[in-house]
Amino acid sequence: MVRIGLGMYDLLAGKRRLGPTRWHDRDALLRLQPDLQPEGLRGGFTFWDGQMDDHALGLWAAEQVRGMGARLHEDAAVERVDQDGGVWVGGQRLAHDRVVNVAGPWARALLDASGIASRYTLDLVRGSHLVLDRPCPAGVLGEIRDERRIAFALPWKGRTLVGTTEVRQGLDATPVCSDEERDYILAFHNRLMRTPATVRDISSSFAGLRPLLRSADDPSRASREYAIETRGRLVSVFGGKWTTARALGEQVAGRIVAAA
Ligand SMILES: Cc1cc2nc3c(=O)[nH]c(=O)nc-3n(C[C@H](O)[C@H](O)[C@H](O)COP(=O)(O)OP(=O)(O)OC[C@H]3O[C@@H](n4cnc5c(N)ncnc54)[C@H](O)[C@@H]3O)c2cc1C
Repeated sequence: MVRIGLGMYDLLAGKRRLGPTRWHDRDALLRLQPDLQPEGLRGGFTFWDGQMDDHALGLWAAEQVRGMGARLHEDAAVERVDQDGGVWVGGQRLAHDRVVNVAGPWARALLDASGIASRYTLDLVRGSHLVLDRPCPAGVLGEIRDERRIAFALPWKGRTLVGTTEVRQGLDATPVCSDEERDYILAFHNRLMRTPATVRDISSSFAGLRPLLRSADDPSRASREYAIETRGRLVSVFGGKWTTARALGEQVAGRIVAAA
């Protein structure tokens, strides 16, 4: 049996309104995504929140704070921070009332470079993706066999985006999709879809590092929670996801307001 969730992503293009999660039997599901493997398929859910454009959302969020009067300094590497509101850029210390360290995978490394102790350690877990040179009429999220992981094949700029993986790595190397991950993602795709994909169908690949709070030996079991740590005028964030970003932002703002 294959259990599948199937999302209709026209929502992002404004063509659909948010609808209820619905169960579809096998035949209805195959009408929505005819390329699904029919063997063992019992049905699946359609739902509405399986995909977003993180780059566009990040730019939108930056515009909001710019509109509120914040000055954004882009492409400015922070060398170190201190607990008294100092941020070191280009060898100069810039003074601030409060500093929030949201360096994601680099949050702990920035503290280490600054000589600031922390009770939190991050596991950096690479996730790789393949872009297949074929259209995807409807996105599919499915369980990986014998693993308690969900992977996906989604419409992506006229092509198909398939992912993802969980492989520990350090900050010393650029995250790239390994050959093993490529084969793992293709195998997932080919169990899920009727038309097999091979290496020749791959138009590009990309990978990123998830900053996960260290809590387990198995990266797929590592906590997706986040932690906030305050040291003097410095607030550091460890971990976190887009899905919890708003709640996290409110908590960080709450700490800053409470300390003012
Ligand atoms: C493969 C993968 C899959 C994911 N899937 C999901 C998902 O399904 N759902 C979900 O909600 N989230 C998901 N996430 C998590 C999400 O995309 C973010 O990675 C996470 O929320 C961390 O965001 P962040 O803003 O803390 O870090 P980042 O987005 O990594 O931002 C950190 C920023 O700090 C900058 N920086 C670092 N050090 C310095 C320095 N010294 N000076 C100046 N700038 C610096 C970096 O350049 C970067 O721009 C996924 C992430 C990955 C990699």
